[in-house]
Amino acid sequence: MALLNENYLKLKAGYLFPEIARRVKTFCAEKPEAAGRLIRCGIGDVTEPLPAAVIQAMHKAVDEMGVRNTFKGYGPEQGYDWLRQVIAQNDYRQRGLDVADDEIFVSDGSKCDCGAILDILGDRNKIAISDPVYPVYVDTNVMAGHTGVANEDGRYGRLVYLPCRPANGFVPEPPSKPVDVVYLCSPNNPTGAVATRAQLEAWVQYALKHQAIILFDAAYEAYIQDPALPHSIYEIPGARECAIEFRSFSKNGGFTGLRCAFTVVPKSLMARTRGGESQPLHPLWNRRSATKFNGVSYVVQRAAEALYTEEGKRQVSDLVKHYMGNAVVLRQGAKKAGLKAYGGENAPYIWVRTPKGMTSWQVFDKILGEANVVITPGSGFGSKGEGFFRISAFNSRENAEEVARRLKELAW
Ligand SMILES: *Cc1c(COP(=O)(O)O)cnc(C)c1O
Repeated sequence: MALLNENYLKLKAGYLFPEIARRVKTFCAEKPEAAGRLIRCGIGDVTEPLPAAVIQAMHKAVDEMGVRNTFKGYGPEQGYDWLRQVIAQNDYRQRGLDVADDEIFVSDGSKCDCGAILDILGDRNKIAISDPVYPVYVDTNVMAGHTGVANEDGRYGRLVYLPCRPANGFVPEPPSKPVDVVYLCSPNNPTGAVATRAQLEAWVQYALKHQAIILFDAAYEAYIQDPALPHSIYEIPGARECAIEFRSFSKNGGFTGLRCAFTVVPKSLMARTRGGESQPLHPLWNRRSATKFNGVSYVVQRAAEALYTEEGKRQVSDLVKHYMGNAVVLRQGAKKAGLKAYGGENAPYIWVRTPKGMTSWQVFDKILGEANVVITPGSGFGSKGEGFFRISAFNSRENAEEVARRLKELAW
């Protein structure tokens, strides 16, 4: 009989979102009269339709695919040159950041890339993650066999957990001990916190000192409102020697269902062999992409390109304004309800303290049962998320306003 990958058996059962779905389903079955007024502020998925510029570009690309002369078969695995160039130019070089076209790798999503990057890293690295955290960073490391088993808190052996609490503004500090790889997500899912320039400088200093690699997830950079906050890790001197950046069109362009993202691997980023020899990672990632991936569809890459036109940029900015308007409404709603709310100022997530020492799941059940609103329990993102819950601003304005009203009416 074939052997299976036993690392998968270490994964905690009852993953967050299936458990939420189960409780919502039970609620709707028991209270069909309340099910009709249910509002979902749980999963972080966009709700608004794609920008007009994207739809137009896709129609045109589809027509090209239907004509022999303009038909496209396999494209370059790393993405079409015209897209890599427009990304490097607009997101980096126009902002004074040194990123070359061929350091951009177009993919079908940051979630996949966050997992896939482990392919080119060794399996003896000491890995640090925030607590609470986007579960993908943890689970992909479990699957790759980089961790021990989980304890009763759900924490895995061999991972270094960096607590994110009100005291540090939910931005992790570099640990006292050296690690080899660290995941940073800013603006943060789930806490909505954003690392300042000084905080990222401290991380880059730490990484250079310990020859560590920062895996920087900037999926929400478009939501930054404060002009002093960095959008890219490459705004920090030295980051080209220690950081990989993940970006996605999911949250700015509303591409969650369309699928397109990119990863930046600087050619100056090195890692070492077990023999101690320093080698660049760029050729490894290039080789991995060419071997395990056949590129994003032509139509979708044209859609992504359209986000960088004048019209596309305006439409992205309108989408971000819409969701950030919701975030203001929800954050104020939580505050007026007497709750302590964080985030929601440079990110589409509001991170709320549970009142009266209630657990995250107790608050989930109460808000579902009494306000008929689905939130996300903070404990699902890690043990330090216990005592918090996340409200997503991805919704219609009408729903955001209704959620704010219902939160105020709750008696704790
Ligand atoms: C939504 C999200 C992404 C984007 O993932 P895609 O696969 O590109 O849709 C990446 N990181 C975090 C933390 C996210 O919340």
